[in-house]
Amino acid sequence: METILNIANLNKTYKSAGRTLTVLDDINFAIGAGSTNAIVGPSGSGKTTLLGLCAGLDSATSGIVELSGVNFGGLSEDKRAQVRNQYVGFIFQNFQLLPTLTALENVMVPLELRGEKNIKPRALDLLDKVGLASRGHHYPAQLSGGEQQRVSLARAFSNSPKILFADEPTGNLDAETSEKVVKLIFDLNKDAGTTLVLVTHDLELAAKTQRILRIKGGKLVSDELTAKAV
Ligand code: ADP
Repeated sequence: METILNIANLNKTYKSAGRTLTVLDDINFAIGAGSTNAIVGPSGSGKTTLLGLCAGLDSATSGIVELSGVNFGGLSEDKRAQVRNQYVGFIFQNFQLLPTLTALENVMVPLELRGEKNIKPRALDLLDKVGLASRGHHYPAQLSGGEQQRVSLARAFSNSPKILFADEPTGNLDAETSEKVVKLIFDLNKDAGTTLVLVTHDLELAAKTQRILRIKGGKLVSDELTAKAV
């Protein structure tokens, strides 16, 4: 299987009050294109930090993060953003929609940033895909948590990402709504071959992926294929 994401000797430290805090300690793994993966581990173990580094949202202290053949090492924030715009979708536990924009406008933002044409019908199409075509004129505060997460999925799908990172995508959702969101995420893998990397506390969700990477105290402590891998 072709590698889409390669992580080698990855370290992340923070300095505060003269102390060095090691958040990620010599992490190594490679993710195959088109695969589905979960990162699990206790709270504070470094999962969100790791996901942010993989997606180029943040830069490593040392080590290699190579996404779709591009090494993030030494790239400026702008260059990392370009790579993200091209290849990456990202969804957050708290949705991170812009509160002053409607659902439709939130989905239009990345299309506009990429200088695409006919962005309104494209954004409407994307909203339709997540079942929210009729809610385009609503502001985030007028939508339920599940609807907001579906808008953020429509936004994440807008560049037809090669890889989708999701940080606790169902963390703030009830069981029924979670199911809808999870289906949309896995359909993207099935229909478009998008690679999935999900950070989750939910072991049932993790078991739906092909591979579970467990992080503890900033170290990768296990890396196992699930029953879905066969
Ligand atoms: P998880 O997602 O597993 O809960 P995080 O990646 O959010 O873990 O955090 C891992 C550790 O890194 C925590 O101890 C957290 O306090 C610390 N941390 C995260 N971001 C920063 C930061 N910007 N400055 C200092 N420490 C941070």
